[in-house]
Amino acid sequence: MTARSQFPTSERPPGFIYREIKRGILRSRKQLVLHCERIPLSQLAEDYGTPLYVYSASMIRERFNAFDGAFRGIPHQICYSVKANSNLGILRLLAKQGCGFDVVSGGELERVLAVDRKAARKVVFSGVGKTREELTAAVKAGIMLFNVESESELWALAECAGRARKVAPVAMRVNPDVAAETHPYISTGLHKHKFGVPIGEARALYAKASGARYLQVRGVSVHIGSQITDMTPFGEALARVADLVRTLREDGHRITYIDAGGGLGIAYDKPAEGGFSGYVTAYARSLATPLRDLDVCLLLEPGRSIIGPAGALITSVIYKKKNNGKTFVIVDAAMNDLIRPALYGAYHEIVPVVRNLESTATTADIVGPVCETGDFFARDRELRPVNEGDLLAILDAGAYGMVLASNYNSRPRAAEVLVTGKSAKVIRKREKVSDLFRAEL
Ligand SMILES: *Cc1c(COP(=O)(O)O)cnc(C)c1O
Repeated sequence: MTARSQFPTSERPPGFIYREIKRGILRSRKQLVLHCERIPLSQLAEDYGTPLYVYSASMIRERFNAFDGAFRGIPHQICYSVKANSNLGILRLLAKQGCGFDVVSGGELERVLAVDRKAARKVVFSGVGKTREELTAAVKAGIMLFNVESESELWALAECAGRARKVAPVAMRVNPDVAAETHPYISTGLHKHKFGVPIGEARALYAKASGARYLQVRGVSVHIGSQITDMTPFGEALARVADLVRTLREDGHRITYIDAGGGLGIAYDKPAEGGFSGYVTAYARSLATPLRDLDVCLLLEPGRSIIGPAGALITSVIYKKKNNGKTFVIVDAAMNDLIRPALYGAYHEIVPVVRNLESTATTADIVGPVCETGDFFARDRELRPVNEGDLLAILDAGAYGMVLASNYNSRPRAAEVLVTGKSAKVIRKREKVSDLFRAEL
């Protein structure tokens, strides 16, 4: 068996691909090195250190355009879910593409406004616990839509809008009681979950909202969870929302938006077959069917599916050791940098930055230096042989990676770099230890 057939190619084109580099004085030695666009990741690691988050700008643009293109038959607006990756450099790139934003806190709203004041017109505000301060800031900014998740929040919003003397556009986030196959921590569309209002109680709430002077009923919103790769629950949830919209219109409400939320999953174990555009087209079809003849503007809140595969976490191997015959590869990234494996038992493909063509596989646990057994990136993983000092790339780390990073074990957070072609820009400086205790007395 050759090395190529034994191991998947593990590339995420067009962002992350292996290219041949010639080395040695006579440039006679060839090496396959994982690149982000036109830059070898080994070069970025040398220039900026590790652990390092690297993003491909072309890949972000390409995925946004594929997503947008899949919905071209329907009036729509994409509102990228800021919580997946909120770096200003990435928000700026998306804003330039015409993307709107889904925010879940006042902090995320401030990020969007820092990037582009005018982007407020394309902002939706979701979340079960918006404070009066946050609601007021969003009313003043003039956002597109509030996704209200309870009756109490509705009255809080009416109060804040009244005080600001500005009308707040409202959708109720309904809980459609649709089960979606995903990790229990990120499933949100069942009655037992904290999100939204039960779809059966929504009609009464709309009636109350329409009586409030500073509220304007505009839409219905739904979000059933994250990392969902089966299209059926998306279609089912939207069919229930479509029924509600028809009822609300009969009641005399002017519903102009349906917000279908986010949640489209990605394939962490391999690049999507048929490419992302085929996949997102199937998603678009599952949403379009229930929307037929409804004449609404469809809002979409993708996070992971846009940014996930466009980012990788680069880490160096510090030590290798064997305990009772089990091999541990200890790397300089840890659960504080990327918590998904520890939190959800999530799988991430991990590949060597410089590919040697030895075909013998080894099995190892890839772990970080944090003092927790949960600090692992992979367990019993079959890998090409790795040595101390080697660089590894943890793929598909663009979403829910850096945003969930912490300073646990007093570890400064990693730097982030955005690559376009042959140029790399630092979009977040590496933290220093002194940054960590600056606010402490
Ligand atoms: C998290 C979240 C999203 C984004 O989910 P993805 O799985 O990253 O696409 C969209 N809308 C709401 C309300 C969310 O909470």
